[in-house]
Amino acid sequence: MKYIDEYRDAEETRRYAGALGRLATGPWTLMEVCGGQTHAIVKFGLDELLPPAITLVHGPGCPVCVTPLERMDQAMRIASRAEVIFCSFGDMLRVPGSQTDLLRVRAAGGDVRIVYSPLDAVRIARENPGREVVFFAVGFETTAPANALAVVRAKQEGLNNFSLLVSQVLVPPALEAILSSPDNRVQGFLAAGHVCTVMGYDQYEPIAARYRVPIVVTGFEPLDILQGVYMCVQQLENGRAEVENQYSRSVRRQGNLQAQQLIRQVFRVVPRKWRGLGEIAQSGLGLAEEFAALDADRRFGMPPETVEEPAECRSGLVLQGVLKPSQCPAFGTRCTPEQPLGATMVSSEGACAAYYRYRHHSQAASMAASPDRVP
Ligand code: SF4
Repeated sequence: MKYIDEYRDAEETRRYAGALGRLATGPWTLMEVCGGQTHAIVKFGLDELLPPAITLVHGPGCPVCVTPLERMDQAMRIASRAEVIFCSFGDMLRVPGSQTDLLRVRAAGGDVRIVYSPLDAVRIARENPGREVVFFAVGFETTAPANALAVVRAKQEGLNNFSLLVSQVLVPPALEAILSSPDNRVQGFLAAGHVCTVMGYDQYEPIAARYRVPIVVTGFEPLDILQGVYMCVQQLENGRAEVENQYSRSVRRQGNLQAQQLIRQVFRVVPRKWRGLGEIAQSGLGLAEEFAALDADRRFGMPPETVEEPAECRSGLVLQGVLKPSQCPAFGTRCTPEQPLGATMVSSEGACAAYYRYRHHSQAASMAASPDRVP
């Protein structure tokens, strides 16, 4: 398939791995920010091709995984109300809150619907004027433009029965939180290419300079990732700390200015709590005052609350790159995709789910589960 196959070429992949072996003296620890990159790394066995001088750790770039417990609980309280049609992307339905999940809320009679776009929720609101339609707006900068468009559309149409439960987060403040942590061991980042397609990458330049850390905007296919690792390690070996763009077929330095304008029109920057990382200043988006009438928090009077994570789940450490999923004592025993203890085991982009899917079984079974693995 054009634009896919050439980035999965096994011969070229092995050549990059060999070049990295000659380049890296290290030891270097790099973090891929995005859960999509984590899944590609584990699925194709890219980390196992790297020389011992390079360690990859997995970052907080899975929007489902970083949505905090209390936000999940609030979603379930709203979804349980008789007058509400609660619309969400499918990944969120199995994410555990402190007591239950949205699937169980639906089984108990809640009208919880999976949608593929926030505009689907706007349509449902249009078709059901007697019901309150709430869209669960989770995600990074990638989902913000479509969510903003839904809000603008609902306001233009005068849909008084549509609102957004917002749990949008922003990548750069999370990188700063990781770099500021006393436990930090990350020396370079592979930034998420799709986020930078929207936002550009000039916002990473002050972070690279302040923390003396290379940041390489990277795509999602095996060769993208190995080239991103190569560019990052090359900087580390040469004592440089700059922002570079591996994903130039999609990303421009300034990003998509029209999408950014839409985000600025509808949202304002707010503090947000991240699952596993705690509250991070200026790390999220909330609805701007002009759109406050479409804010589900206000409409349903959701009070702020704090819920403790289950002590057994180490996803906070996994999301900071301090722990690998397989190092969690509950991995594959008390915690599986069928009975997840934490969101990183639920989400299709979660690191624990990736390790369970591609690494949990014997090597032979793992190869069978992942025929794309580079031999
Ligand atoms: S394996 Fe399960 S319990 Fe352990 S960190 Fe991952 S989600 Fe949490």
